[in-house]
Amino acid sequence: MTAHLDHYRGRKVLVTGGAGAIGTNLCRELSTLGATVVILDDLSSGYEWNVPKTPGVMFVKGCVTDEVCLKRVFGEDPEIVFHLAAFFANQNSVDYPERDLQSNGLGTLRILEYARMNRVRRVVYASSGCSIYGHQAPLPLREEFMSMHLSTPYQITKMLGELYCNFFADHYGMEVVKTRFFNSFGPGEVPGQYRNVIPNFVYWSMKRMPLPIAGNPDATRDFTFVGDLVDGILRAGFEPKAVGGEFNLASGREVRIGDLAEKINRLTGSTAGTVMAGHRKWDNKSRILASLERSRQGLGYEPTMDFERGLQLTIDWFRQNWDVIDRSASFLGASSAIRGQVTITGAEPQPASPVRAT
Ligand code: NAD
Repeated sequence: MTAHLDHYRGRKVLVTGGAGAIGTNLCRELSTLGATVVILDDLSSGYEWNVPKTPGVMFVKGCVTDEVCLKRVFGEDPEIVFHLAAFFANQNSVDYPERDLQSNGLGTLRILEYARMNRVRRVVYASSGCSIYGHQAPLPLREEFMSMHLSTPYQITKMLGELYCNFFADHYGMEVVKTRFFNSFGPGEVPGQYRNVIPNFVYWSMKRMPLPIAGNPDATRDFTFVGDLVDGILRAGFEPKAVGGEFNLASGREVRIGDLAEKINRLTGSTAGTVMAGHRKWDNKSRILASLERSRQGLGYEPTMDFERGLQLTIDWFRQNWDVIDRSASFLGASSAIRGQVTITGAEPQPASPVRAT
């Protein structure tokens, strides 16, 4: 079934956060499918070098709260908006809660307002399944579960974005689809202090450093290959029966953090092993596993990437782009546990919280 792919040929779409880890992959796929892509990204955690230089991709540097930029990109008359821009992620939001609220709260509200005023056909919102279910939900995590006990400002504002989406759907009848991503990984994600565990582990193992396990090595995550995520996002932008719904986009598979570290060390040929790092107070989920039942039924979503193959593709991307990744990776505030292990060229790390999965 390729109807969701054929749907994009000749269409104009806006991707906010299109210079980010997931956004660059989405924009590349949209461009391959024959869409015209307008990107709005302030490059706060994305990189212009990472944006696809393929035909039909236009990049506008700017913030999702900036009305001059919003007039500029909505003036291009997009039919579909994929709203991926966000202040990323948990620890960053604990360190900078007001910046989190600005981008993820006000930014999402403004995108929805401009989409409504410009009669956009559909908005797809990037929510976070690792965030919005809280830490008391039964596994596998199902879309109907609600939590009033979220652990970081990021988790709260990802949920706030969903609530704004519901308001625009209920009050104005807008076509909105909320997609809930689970721990993305794959080519395109540059490592850094606030990034996910996989790019950081790959980076450190390629530098032959021990991999810092923050907290419990038996903790699990539902790591989702970015290509599978992109397929789910494209389905959300197309599928008529998805309108108004919320859908997990995950792999439906649990991986232990300890096993992840071992696999990455083996695939990169590193013998440096692992080292224990401090536990982060907000990191209170020992297991994460998503239910795919609703996204299978509502979107026809089916993740296909084998986990080790996905890791290998990630490592290949690091090897192909090593110089620019190494220049871009920033661990200025890394924890002392990591600081003891990592030599960062030209930077003096400051003590902060341990780096691990968001
Ligand atoms: P990312 O940080 O790589 O990408 C976000 C992009 O948004 C960056 O390019 C950044 O520069 C841009 N941005 C941030 N604030 C902005 C602003 N105010 N105005 C304009 N651009 C801004 O993150 P990602 O991993 O690609 O995540 C994309 C989306 O998916 C986010 O909304 C995130 O919350 C959500 N999500 C990601 C994951 C994951 O595992 N990566 C999991 C759940 C949800």
